[in-house]
Amino acid sequence: MDATVPEAVKIVEGRCRICGARTEVLRLTEFNLKVCPPCFLRFFERRIRRALEKHAMVGEGERVAVAVSGGKDSTALLYALKRLGVVMGFEPVALHFHLAMGGYSDRNLEVVKEQCSRAGIPLKVLLIGDLGLRVQRVKGWTPCAVCGAIKRSLFNREARKMGAQVVATAHTLEDILLFAFKNLLSRNFRLPPPVLPPGDGLARKVKPLYYMPERLNLVYCRLRELPIFEEKCPFWSPHGHALKEVFEHMEKVVPSSKLQLLLSLREVLSLEGMTLSGPKSPCLRCGEPSSQPLCAVCQLGDWFLRGGRRTGDPS
Ligand code: SF4
Ligand code: ZN
Repeated sequence: MDATVPEAVKIVEGRCRICGARTEVLRLTEFNLKVCPPCFLRFFERRIRRALEKHAMVGEGERVAVAVSGGKDSTALLYALKRLGVVMGFEPVALHFHLAMGGYSDRNLEVVKEQCSRAGIPLKVLLIGDLGLRVQRVKGWTPCAVCGAIKRSLFNREARKMGAQVVATAHTLEDILLFAFKNLLSRNFRLPPPVLPPGDGLARKVKPLYYMPERLNLVYCRLRELPIFEEKCPFWSPHGHALKEVFEHMEKVVPSSKLQLLLSLREVLSLEGMTLSGPKSPCLRCGEPSSQPLCAVCQLGDWFLRGGRRTGDPS
């Protein structure tokens, strides 16, 4: 989904800083490291494990629902969690939203099915068209805002139906920095936390890739030869991601600065309340947690049922 990530896997001759072998190595400027491919795979999974443990993201015996889009980030997360689940005693399950965008969504689903079957992970597919929903511009909402609202709400509901206590999203280091910067530009001094505790009908929400530069997700997928869905969504626009280029430039000038910036921001910004838009109560119609009388999905469902007429517009 992201145009700012360069082709990731550049292999050069050198000495692996982890195992010491003189061989082909990858340069991880983000961590000031040169590592051979097998050590990279262990390094990548160990970093995710460290984030899981540091923030108590997942307990033993828990089921973790992973939202899988088919892109590099959620694919890397899904495979890494599958492998870590074996040693840490939790069980990942996958959830994919078929976004009813014709052939694009069908091809996307095929890749996700292949990913899950190769990982041996159960997959649940939710066809939003069957729920009377679509991704499109609705008064006051961009298509991406509609898409995000649908996915956020249904992800929690479906995860609960799948018996998951935890929902995991593939937000990366750059996503967190982007959120933080957009907040700072409007004098909002808060940083998204790595874990949102459960409550008000919402499962615990975790971000295991919180400290992971997205380039490394692509490296991981390439080295494990995982299929990735690389088509751009018809609604994708570079505008929403343009600020990420600032981070890429900063990283080029000062290697590892993205991670250092995040660690610094964690010390000075508040982690309180991010992404929780006030207290939740059950939606009057479907009972899902909502900050308004009707949840976003019920409001959007009404809108589409009326053929997009203005009465009762989602707002
Ligand atoms: Fe949804 Fe927008 Fe992403 Fe497309 S680009 S999948 S509409 S959030
Ligand atoms: Zn509802």
